[in-house]
Amino acid sequence: MIVIATTVPEAQIWLEDIFSQYAPKDSYCLVDSDQARFATTAVSWFPDLDVLEKLPKLKLIHSMAAGVEHLNLERIGTRYKVCRVVDELHQKGMFDYLQWGVLYYQRFFDQAFAQKQQQCWQQYLQRDHSAVKIGVMGLGQMGGYIAKQFTTLGYQVAGWSRSLKQIGQVKCYAGREDLNEFLGQAEILINLLPLTESNQGILSKDLFDRLPEQACIINCGRGQHLVQQDLIDYLDSGRLRGAILDVFTQEPLAENHPFWRHEKVVITPHIASHAPSSIVVNQIIENDRRIIQNMELLNQVDTLKGY
Ligand code: NDP
Repeated sequence: MIVIATTVPEAQIWLEDIFSQYAPKDSYCLVDSDQARFATTAVSWFPDLDVLEKLPKLKLIHSMAAGVEHLNLERIGTRYKVCRVVDELHQKGMFDYLQWGVLYYQRFFDQAFAQKQQQCWQQYLQRDHSAVKIGVMGLGQMGGYIAKQFTTLGYQVAGWSRSLKQIGQVKCYAGREDLNEFLGQAEILINLLPLTESNQGILSKDLFDRLPEQACIINCGRGQHLVQQDLIDYLDSGRLRGAILDVFTQEPLAENHPFWRHEKVVITPHIASHAPSSIVVNQIIENDRRIIQNMELLNQVDTLKGY
């Protein structure tokens, strides 16, 4: 039995909707129903752990998405298993978004939008893929795939992770000791790190200082990776060229947030990529079957590492 457990009303509506479409009727329930005491898996987005801890049969807390920072892994510790959603179409969706983001800067569409405001007709040169240097932070399911895809299109790609990887033509770097060298090559920096205690606020002035002049940022990780005022300062001073932001500390972004009006910031409402609903439901049903049968789980998270 799967219990839907979230404190976020929009997530509750979405989960109830997709489970009603793709899951057998008797396979899931709501957290305040009688059935919840039989639940072995909770599908969650910002769950109330006080409530989950009262469910006697619960063994698995399953994120409804790729990220798990909303689950409070520190408190969960090893008490429950934790899984997340990983999917090929999810990766492809992210690549589409990032390809658009890279082309936005590579082909100077940011400049075109700015010129339109001033009715300015000024041509600029076309840049080939091979001249563009992309840096990808995080080389996991998302970042590893993205970095490799960009190399197949002929871009120069560097990637950074905790442990050293080997990914085709990607120049791989690992750990804080390699960060300088990695950043020095990232004229378009893509963040696909998971949010953990150690990398909160990593996109800050200290990091921006080590990027090439006029570098661009694309943040698809989490809003808490970014020190917002540092970004604004570096955009205003002209040290950074622009930023595409898909994720924010507070979502939805507050009405009066300065990002809305900043001419060098592009905002998308956390839509870079979503796994198809049917796949989300099927992976959770499959993991519930596996946890009941004591089998190895799909896409299990290391709760001590935090991702
Ligand atoms: P994974 O867990 O598969 O990969 C995480 C990667 O980050 C690994 O390569 C890991 O290194 C690296 N990493 C973690 N911590 C550090 C650190 N401190 N220093 C350097 N590298 C580090 O995650 P995914 O690729 O599946 O997803 C990443 C994140 O992308 C998600 O957590 C989510 O926040 C975001 N996301 C956003 C979406 C959106 O629509 N905006 C959609 C999907 C995901 P190592 O391999 O060495 O452990």
